[in-house]
Amino acid sequence: MRDVFIPSVNIGLVGHVDHGKTTLVSALTGTWTDRHSEEIKRGISIRLGYADTTFYKCEECEGAEAYTTKPECPICGKKAVPFRTVSFVDAPGHETLMATMLSGSALMDGAMLVIAANEACPQPQTKEHLMALELIGIKKIVIVQNKIDVVTQAEALEHYKQIKRFIKGTIAEDAPIIPVSAQKGINIGALIQALNEVIPEPERDPEVNPLMLIARSFDINKPGCSWREIKGGVIGGSLIRGVLHEGDDIEIRPGRQVQIENRTKWEPIETKITSIHAGKTKVTEAAPGGLLGVGTKLDPALTKSDALAGQVAGLVGKLPPIWERMTFEVTLMDRVVGADSELLIEPLKHKEPLMLSVGTAVTVGVITNTKKNLVEVMLKRAVCAEVGARIAISRQVGGRWRLIGMGVLVE
Ligand code: GDP
Ligand code: MG
Repeated sequence: MRDVFIPSVNIGLVGHVDHGKTTLVSALTGTWTDRHSEEIKRGISIRLGYADTTFYKCEECEGAEAYTTKPECPICGKKAVPFRTVSFVDAPGHETLMATMLSGSALMDGAMLVIAANEACPQPQTKEHLMALELIGIKKIVIVQNKIDVVTQAEALEHYKQIKRFIKGTIAEDAPIIPVSAQKGINIGALIQALNEVIPEPERDPEVNPLMLIARSFDINKPGCSWREIKGGVIGGSLIRGVLHEGDDIEIRPGRQVQIENRTKWEPIETKITSIHAGKTKVTEAAPGGLLGVGTKLDPALTKSDALAGQVAGLVGKLPPIWERMTFEVTLMDRVVGADSELLIEPLKHKEPLMLSVGTAVTVGVITNTKKNLVEVMLKRAVCAEVGARIAISRQVGGRWRLIGMGVLVE
């Protein structure tokens, strides 16, 4: 049996800026994920935020009210039973931060699309984020109609109809729509109930080669600490398959860029796992679902300030190939979404730079060849991915990277 306090699933928060994603994570977890001074100053999320919470169910109360994140039932005050712990990945909603949103979506087992009830639906990033979920293949979606405390019941109903029209024909067509107020804590029980039903634990297979997508990396040492106390570099992210153990010898790909004569080359980094944290719990092994902090013997200079974000980790010699150039099969959308005017998407052009998101990696690829729907690119930063991996493709439109389609890695 799995420990109910260890996170077993990653639930993403996506949606237009200011619709209440960070407030909702806070309502669900008690943690404010905008921690960086720049985020606090500007009032927007810039990096991916993480926070965990345990879901409890009161055995006395019925329906949605029985679900809570507190050990005591807020309705009847009886002890509630913990049944599941989840991690939330709070993606930035600002249009300039699509790259971060896309790399975050690689970790999501399911997502909440947060839509504020006091603005017409859809807003540009409501559309663009739903499109991203569709392209990346995230089908387990719960729609959160937030800020119902600032609209009348009639307005909420009208807004609900707008959401219904908007999701018709998309992957979210059948997603439940849960009205809440993140700020006032209204109807959070119904949201937990829906999340629990729509986003189950991912299947786990301890036999397959583990693959961890790295989303963050850290130097956890205090400035000026003595070399004797120095702790190795920490990588943060999620396993998308397999199991990792304390003591495993691991490899990180593509690793570091080295200069050999006048050519640069990517060289995998090998190290050993010294500790694993799953959520707040120290564990000796970890499986998919939930966010992990993995301590290693790496020089912390290699891991500081997210230097390894976008790389992958797994057992030595058991990771997918490293690509410095690659060919993928593309499917472009008809129109750019997420901008004020929805321009037609022109065909891809020779030498055009594209922003490619593969797993948590974000890189720029310059087109060196196109043939029908096959595109060959030369990458600025190499990526580690397997054949068949999905690639979200963005291009510069009006000075911004806009999502224009997706690709499947061929070779
Ligand atoms: P994000 O950009 O989607 O992460 O949005 P934030 O969580 O930062 O919220 C943006 C603003 O909306 C903040 O001023 C919040 O206090 C406010 N807000 C969030 N949820 C609610 C809600 O349910 N009701 C009301 N009235 N305001 C809310
Ligand atoms: Mg936010």
